[in-house]
Amino acid sequence: MKKILLIHTGGTMGMTAGEHPSLATKQFEDEVFRHVPGVKNIAHIDFKNPFNIDSSNIGIRHWVEIGSIIEEHMETYDGFVIIHGTDTMSYTACALSFMLTNLPKPVILTGSQRPLSAIRTDAKNNLINAIELATYDIPEVGIFFDYKLFRGNRTIKISIDDFDAFSSPNYPLLAEVGLNIEIKNFHRTPTGIFRLHKNFSNDVFCTRLFPGFNPVTILSLIDSPIRVFIFEAFGSGNVPILENSLVPIIQKISGSGKLAAITSQCVNGSVDLALYDCGQQALEAGAITCGDMTTEAAIIKAMYLLGQFDGNAGKVKNNFNISIAGEITERSDP
Ligand code: ASP
Repeated sequence: MKKILLIHTGGTMGMTAGEHPSLATKQFEDEVFRHVPGVKNIAHIDFKNPFNIDSSNIGIRHWVEIGSIIEEHMETYDGFVIIHGTDTMSYTACALSFMLTNLPKPVILTGSQRPLSAIRTDAKNNLINAIELATYDIPEVGIFFDYKLFRGNRTIKISIDDFDAFSSPNYPLLAEVGLNIEIKNFHRTPTGIFRLHKNFSNDVFCTRLFPGFNPVTILSLIDSPIRVFIFEAFGSGNVPILENSLVPIIQKISGSGKLAAITSQCVNGSVDLALYDCGQQALEAGAITCGDMTTEAAIIKAMYLLGQFDGNAGKVKNNFNISIAGEITERSDP
């Protein structure tokens, strides 16, 4: 029988049921075996409970803690399931996918919209299937939610209350669960020795542009420790170039040895700065594209690369469009 390590970090799945779910003090292990005793037939499951928090409170030290548990137990288990709040699950999936280089085994994050102890819940379904999928040979950091296994660093949370809460707009599903489990052929395979990288930097700023956006708000940040500025721009990566032009700001950012990166408010498709003048001018001012990365992936990648390159924004720039864990379609990809 396969061995799975289940790492409970908090979120709704383990919360107490009721009008306002709240973090439970009960052992998650007891809850699992009380509500879904049958999981024992899928795999031998051991538990770790590093912390129990609403995922809105997650940060770098939590990612390092989860990554270290996985590293420590990599030899002992066939797969890992992480129970995590849905609100920031996509960010954690990005972080882990970058940290766990040459991951040889599945790491599957899941959670739920309703607690495990609620009668009408998506928790049982998500938990059972995540455990089952962690027994397969899918060496990826995935998110399992509502019958679908996604590449985690391609996901976004799209719904506050639907059970179908995640989407992966620019990458196909890794697996789909129905009568049978259908594994697609889109997953990665390790190409070298597994290693955990723990360095991140939070000298990253991200803002969504909107008509009337006052670029002066960014000026004061240019002299701050922020080293990467991510702008969630319009359509194919367009920014204002007439009134309230962002171009001089991008020039100032680049001129001060920092990085301006452009992502899109559209979730489908890839940023193409050369398509319109409003992108081309940003490009000429020194901005770079985030390609088809989600904004979540772009932020965490900037944090990760700054951590790896000791805050050197030039090196971040050179590596930003190179795939670390399949989070971006590289230009040479078909
Ligand atoms: N606020 C919760 C969390 O992210 C929501 C959830 O678990 O779905 O921890």
